[in-house]
Amino acid sequence: ESLFSELSDIPLDSHYALKEEFSADPAPKKVILGSGIYRDGNGMPWVLPTVKEAEDIVDNIGDPGRYDYLQIAGSAAFYTAARDLLFGRVDTKVESIVSVQAVSGTGANSLGARFLSESLKPSAVWLSNPSWVNHANIWSLVGVEVKYYPYWDAEKRLLDFENMIKTLESHTKPGDVIVLHGCAHNPTGVDPTKDQWKTIADVCQRRGLFPFFDNAYQGFASGDLDEDAWALRHFAGRENMELAAAQSFSKNMGLYGERVGALHILTASPDAASKVKGHVLRIQRGQVSQPPRRGATLATTILTNGKLFQKWLLDLREMSSRIKDMRKALHDELVALGTPGDWGHILTQIGMFSYTGLSPAQVEHLRSEGHVYILASGRISVPGLNPGNVKYVAAAIDKAVR
Ligand code: PMP
Repeated sequence: ESLFSELSDIPLDSHYALKEEFSADPAPKKVILGSGIYRDGNGMPWVLPTVKEAEDIVDNIGDPGRYDYLQIAGSAAFYTAARDLLFGRVDTKVESIVSVQAVSGTGANSLGARFLSESLKPSAVWLSNPSWVNHANIWSLVGVEVKYYPYWDAEKRLLDFENMIKTLESHTKPGDVIVLHGCAHNPTGVDPTKDQWKTIADVCQRRGLFPFFDNAYQGFASGDLDEDAWALRHFAGRENMELAAAQSFSKNMGLYGERVGALHILTASPDAASKVKGHVLRIQRGQVSQPPRRGATLATTILTNGKLFQKWLLDLREMSSRIKDMRKALHDELVALGTPGDWGHILTQIGMFSYTGLSPAQVEHLRSEGHVYILASGRISVPGLNPGNVKYVAAAIDKAVR
């Protein structure tokens, strides 16, 4: 008899379960549009040309300390450059921002959640309904009650802004944390407008909510890094606004497996920042001790070398425009097939994902009849589409919908 035999059975995370089902499917033609990973026009992983150049530079330097531990806070060159990318260089509050390198966006969310749960003791964390699946998991792990604010209007396939604000105005308590997606909302691909962001910031300040921005897609929404940081910078620029931000370079540098990210906490004063830093480092020391080195070195090389930085902007453009092309191709195929329904939202949604509006039964039909694998929520990862499979996917969606 094991001490663990009373444990409940935990199903495999939906993304990974989908991958397993896909691999086990013997069909000669099959497509997976599950995880948010960029693929090129041939369906292959894409090492950014800028990353290849950075690899050459880093390897040529041959730093004898290249396998040494970093600091507990990680590489200062990295998290400072990362902070500037997110907050902008003009920020006058830098002395009040605590930045630490984290184990990618997930690690930054998790480190931030642990710190905020200890320090603010929120009665709840508010997530968008729906949100990235791991947000609820991360906050449950630190023992904070997870609540949801309305976000997606399934019928109109738009942001349900009115109900979002109503809920935040009437159900939140001061000191609660609200998780906001900086841009390219996962899974819906729908972001608030600038005016709506201002209203959200007003509500946060009026209700005493602590904003926690999750920025996993800077550069993927509009293709422009500054534009994609607009919401966070608007919040950060306000008087008396404290906030946290998780940042990931998985998508915008294609460094998924290297786990490159940062946690930033904007506080009201340099004195508060120094206290916050101590506590964040205490947690980091216990969790990972020091974050990993190589990916951060590559990212720093790109962020701090003017020439490489300019080339990186082109890589970002290439990824975001290929995704846009695939949105258009899928949309146009569905329209050409006369597929029942309105598919305009596929064009207007932004970032890696499209929330198609397909029902769970239609998703199941897609899988069993078309061998097209998407999440039960109806979310597709658009970069999984390419000229070689988009017609096939559209035909499968057409059949599933009819
Ligand atoms: N936040 C959001 C909203 C995401 O979509 C993702 C990746 N799917 C992450 C955070 C974290 O990704 P990573 O840990 O690879 O940086």
